[in-house]
Formats: sequence, C-alpha cells, structure tokens
Amino acid sequence: MARGGGLAGHTLLLLLLAAAAAAAVTGAEVDVELVRPARTEPESEAEAAAAAAQHLLPRPLVIELPSSSSAAAAAARGGDEHEPGPDADGVPPDVRCASWRLAAEANNLAPWKAVPPECAAHVRDYVTGAAYRSDLDLVARESAAYARAAATTLGGDGRDAWVFDVDETLLSNIPYYADHGYGLELFDHHKFDEWVERGEAPAIPSSLKLYNEVRDLGFKIFLLTGRTEGHRGVTVDNLNRQGFHDWDKLVLRAAEDRKKTATVYKSEKRKEMEEEGYRILGNSGDQWSDLLGSSMSARSFKLPNPMYYIP
Ligand SMILES: [Mg+2]
Repeated sequence: MARGGGLAGHTLLLLLLAAAAAAAVTGAEVDVELVRPARTEPESEAEAAAAAAQHLLPRPLVIELPSSSSAAAAAARGGDEHEPGPDADGVPPDVRCASWRLAAEANNLAPWKAVPPECAAHVRDYVTGAAYRSDLDLVARESAAYARAAATTLGGDGRDAWVFDVDETLLSNIPYYADHGYGLELFDHHKFDEWVERGEAPAIPSSLKLYNEVRDLGFKIFLLTGRTEGHRGVTVDNLNRQGFHDWDKLVLRAAEDRKKTATVYKSEKRKEMEEEGYRILGNSGDQWSDLLGSSMSARSFKLPNPMYYIP
C-alpha cells in the first residue's frame, strides 16, 4: 500500500506539473508586438548606421509571438505544436483560422496587425499545400478569361496595359519564408535582401502562363514592385531566368518613394502611366495596396497571401 500510495503521489505530482506547464503555454503573455516599418533605404551614413544597429525588423506586418515558447514559430516550422482546442462555441481552431484567412484576403481585417499565433500551422499548411496552388490557378484562369474578353476591344494604339506586382505575384519567396517561419519570425532586412540578391525566387507557374498570354494578347506589360532600384539588376535576372521576358516597363522604388506607403507609391506610378496615355485594363497583385488607391485598373485581380499585410 505504501509503495502504491507513493506511485500514486508521484503520478499526481507529475500530472500537476504537466497541467501547470500546459497552463503556462496556454496563458503565455503576448508581449512582443512589432509594427511594420516602411521598407526604406537609409538616407545618410547616420541613418545607415542606425539601420544597421536595428536591422532586426519584423516581416511587413505586425507579428505577435508568444514570449516564452515561440510556439507559433515552432508550429510554422513543423515542430512541436501547441494545438488550441475548440472555442466556447465548439468551433475548432482550423475552422477559426480559415475564417481569419478569408477575412484577411477579403480585406475585412485591414489594416490587420497580426497573424494569430494559433494560426501559424494553418498558414504553413495552406501556402505549402494544394489549396494555395489551386487558389493561384483560379485567379490566373479568371484573369486570363477577362484579358481575352478585353483584348477584343483593345484600342489598337498600343496603349492598353496590364500591371503586375512581382513578389508573391510573379515570383514566389516561399523558399525564404520556409526557413523563417512563414513570416512568423522577426523580419531581417539583411537576410531578406541576401535572399533577393541570390535571384533564386521561383516563378509562380500559373502567373507565368497568365503573363505570357496577356503579353501575347497585345497588352503593354508594366511591372510595378516595392523592390528598390538597387535591386533592379538582380530582379531582371531573376525574372528572366524564371521565364518572364519582354515587359515594357519595370518600375521600382526610387529614393523619393522610400517613405511612401505601397498604396500611395503604386497609385502615383499608375497615374504616371495614365498621364503617358496608357489605359490600365488589368492589375494583378497579392496585396490590396497593389490594387487600391487611385488610378485603379478597370479590373483588379487579388492573388492569395495570408503571410503578411503591406499598407
Ligand atoms: Mg507582392
């Protein structure tokens, strides 16, 4: 009896410790809140030094990481996952995360400031699985259908244009994010720039097919990206290696665009296109800031991207 009682006591102690540990994880305070800074280039040596000293910046969104366990980042990498249970109404976490993702894509959360930590694994599974590819394919098919219909009424003066964003629209940075928690790790400008400068971002296949069809239909192709002029060469090389050729204009952020939101910067560039006499009939982008603002295209096509939000 004494031995049995001791085992029972040890078992109870272990259970209590396990429960305490679980409670600690469940109740982990979210104490890191990181606001996306504009992706800017330093203007002076002093700013460059400051940027170098503080180069650990978040992904272009606000991220909340559990302070103690980094459970979300671990989950995004496929490690030990803290799986929350159904909520008070019995809705399981994957359903809640699907709702969150739909709301983000529909721009109902804007300006959304965080990937919910409980949805880290959901976002990982989505962008690495068949659903993301299927969603991309569907957007491309609908875009192509519209382009073919619009092409029947092209002006014939070479002034009908289609605008494409680059990152997560023509090229995919998923290989980079796979190594960085699918956006749930702190965003490091140096590391991301190193990735960009490798020029190894793969094409999104359905976007490459759309790009070629739109170009062959007679549209002018304008690439409008938040990348900076300093990355023009590597961006051109990366695009060419992945099969993108013969665009008419590649617009990157110049020095004077550094501190503008993407919405303002891209609206201004579209306005310049209009002032040059172009009619923007189509626009493809993974961010609403690629598509909204002023001088909007006749039709806009939003590609999915649940990893980050850029204003
Ligand atoms: Mg993009």
